[in-house]
Amino acid sequence: MSQSWPALVLRASAVDGSEDLVSAVLTDFNPVAIQDLAERPLPPGGLWDPTYPPIPDPPPTPLHWSVCFSDPGERDRAGRAIALALPLLKIERVDLPDEDWAARSQQSLKAVRAGAFIIAPPWDLPPPAAHGVEATVIVIEPSMGFGTGHHATTRMCLRLLSALDVADATVLDLGTGSGVLSMAAALMGARRVTGVDVDQDAIDSAESSARLNTLPDSITFVVSDFRKAPPAPADIVLANLTGGMLTSSAADIAALVRPHGRLILSGFDHTEVGRVLASFASFTERQRLSEDNWIALELHRRG
Ligand code: SAH
Repeated sequence: MSQSWPALVLRASAVDGSEDLVSAVLTDFNPVAIQDLAERPLPPGGLWDPTYPPIPDPPPTPLHWSVCFSDPGERDRAGRAIALALPLLKIERVDLPDEDWAARSQQSLKAVRAGAFIIAPPWDLPPPAAHGVEATVIVIEPSMGFGTGHHATTRMCLRLLSALDVADATVLDLGTGSGVLSMAAALMGARRVTGVDVDQDAIDSAESSARLNTLPDSITFVVSDFRKAPPAPADIVLANLTGGMLTSSAADIAALVRPHGRLILSGFDHTEVGRVLASFASFTERQRLSEDNWIALELHRRG
């Protein structure tokens, strides 16, 4: 089914730190996806350069984002709030059809290395034992589902997950998108993995990508809003959402983490990390990663 998303396309004329202010304004709203449209050069050796990390941070580019909302009213309110806070920003209201997402995400898609994984589109499968690096390949068919490995937040979640002891754990992936984090957890030997997403198209694409991989049958994808239909609590919970949603749904998310369990969070930046941490007061910070101004945290539930 073809759907379109009420969206804002935001564009700054210079590198001026607009990102921080826009992110701060957006914490009052619940955008369903933020996509960075800025053109950036590939790191030397291509995106799955086995020396990654560290890829040197690319030079900063002026803000160029598309921000999708679940309804046009919220999009318009967010647009007005952003215009008030940043009068010089170019703001365009658009309805972004799904096809645009698919086309855009496919344009420059190459395999990407993150943690113990290489995320590859079907047309760029790395040769076995590429460059002598041990890595597990996850094939993702790019489509509507966010999570092709080309966003810093997905890669950082994979890096944090790669360092956890997942074997035999139960795992919940809140906002699974392409299903990439769920597939990684299943391949690491989790006992049960549940990927939930409110968007039927995302679950359809997660299921079709899952069929391209050899996965254990511990993995299930479910269409649901975790705030309205909470799944069973798990040992490890992954939530790559937005700062606003993490803050406003912190109690729902915290209740899904079993005592002494781990929580991996991403989808927010430096301006939001304080608010996100403050809303997860019963957790201790264990790890913090940062890439492209995005942050990912690994938290430990104290009891
Ligand atoms: N986990 C993937 C995708 C993150 S994008 C990755 O790390 O790359 C965030 C996803 O969360 C989107 O697919 C969006 O549809 C979904 N989402 C947003 N709010 C949600 C909610 N309340 N319940 C379930 N899914 C939600």
